Amino acid sequence: MNCSQVYELISEAVDHRLSGDVMREFEAHLSKCGKCLSEFKAEEMIKSVLQYRLPRAVIPSEVYNAVVGALAREQQSQQRSWFASLLGSPILNPAVAFVLVITLAVGVYSLFSTSSPKLPNDKNIISQSIKNYAAVIAGNIKPKIMSHDAGDVENYFKKDVSFDVSVAPTNGCDWCGGALSEFHGVKFAHIVYKFGGEHNVLYVYQTDLEEAMKGEKIGLPAKAKDALKKTGWYFEEKPGKYNLVMWKQKHTLCTAVSTMGRQKMIAFLTGTGE
Ligand SMILES: [Zn+2]
Repeated sequence: MNCSQVYELISEAVDHRLSGDVMREFEAHLSKCGKCLSEFKAEEMIKSVLQYRLPRAVIPSEVYNAVVGALAREQQSQQRSWFASLLGSPILNPAVAFVLVITLAVGVYSLFSTSSPKLPNDKNIISQSIKNYAAVIAGNIKPKIMSHDAGDVENYFKKDVSFDVSVAPTNGCDWCGGALSEFHGVKFAHIVYKFGGEHNVLYVYQTDLEEAMKGEKIGLPAKAKDALKKTGWYFEEKPGKYNLVMWKQKHTLCTAVSTMGRQKMIAFLTGTGE
């Protein structure tokens, strides 16, 4: 076994999922390779930290690996919140259009932070949206792409997502960012708009409308479903905490969360704002 073969097996080894023979070969390599041994130790340590947060049985391995990778890199660089470090950052000069690909993986563990995966809350798009909004503010969901041009962010999603992801024109916002995640085989697009001033983040969660209406892997509370069927819109407000605006857009269900006023959100999202 060489280093790259060992590297491929680290997650499995940490989870005790290797067969006896493979495990012996794996251990034989670790006994003579310090580099792989420290990778293995690091992952073991991270796993012990994560265990308390994640109901592991339901997590697709790619999500688990992304979360582990993001945490590992974050620990290495001792970074403070991604978001805090970008607010007001001079590299985001609004005069210059550019695309910045953030190297950190998407932290999607907010999707899994409720105690049991069997709780309907876990499939509930509304509670996911609100949690994700909080995660964006806390820096736990990190855009993989950022741009001053909505088209750049839209294009980022095109190759991987079956539904149309729409990104509002960025007039009046400093930049927008996008990230992609998957839960129970369903894809989710996360879009973040950053504004200057106080109520300065608008988060939009987009997913397949049909999946949401079917309610098997992800779902909606009855009141939201009814409102969407009748009017195409659903609103929720927690004064002082957040405004939630949900709407249908062709085959896509969009859920926007922000502390900005509802009218302002709608004006921005429909491109009728400033
Ligand atoms: Zn090695």
